[in-house]
Amino acid sequence: MSKYSADRNKFADLINANEHYAQGFKYSELSGSAAKGLAIITCMDSRINPLSVVGMRSGDAKILRNAGARVTEDVLRTLVLATYLLNVDRILVMPHTDCRMAQSDESTLHDEIEKQYGVDTRSLEFRVTRDQEAALETDITRIRAYPLIRKGVSVIGAIYDVKTGKIDFKNF
Ligand SMILES: [Zn+2]
Repeated sequence: MSKYSADRNKFADLINANEHYAQGFKYSELSGSAAKGLAIITCMDSRINPLSVVGMRSGDAKILRNAGARVTEDVLRTLVLATYLLNVDRILVMPHTDCRMAQSDESTLHDEIEKQYGVDTRSLEFRVTRDQEAALETDITRIRAYPLIRKGVSVIGAIYDVKTGKIDFKNF
């Protein structure tokens, strides 16, 4: 017995659900290219279903998620691959309302974890922002200015409202 077998029990619902899912599987014809040419960068927030909020389905779009929907080095790396090799020619960066990453500052979050768990996380940059809109504009600019992203790719920023399901598409 592996010492991790107790961990596996924590995933019993997933294992069970996948058996049912695979029985009715209908996506075997899809390719790994984004059929609608779209990449979405959004937050890890569990209230967001990034495909359905913009009318997409499996196979249509590349989804990149992290805390706060920030454009990090790894997001840029992934976008370079997606724009050259996986048919992506439009990019939506979509943070959301009521985001934990836009409610305090960096040191407050570190302090909170330290206080509750006794762990010093300050060697990590969480990329927290108090001005979500300004951070979004900076992130959009970061993608547009990145020299290795394929030419002709369109980039838009938007904020998803977790209370209404509406997306506020920005003009910057
Ligand atoms: Zn969030």
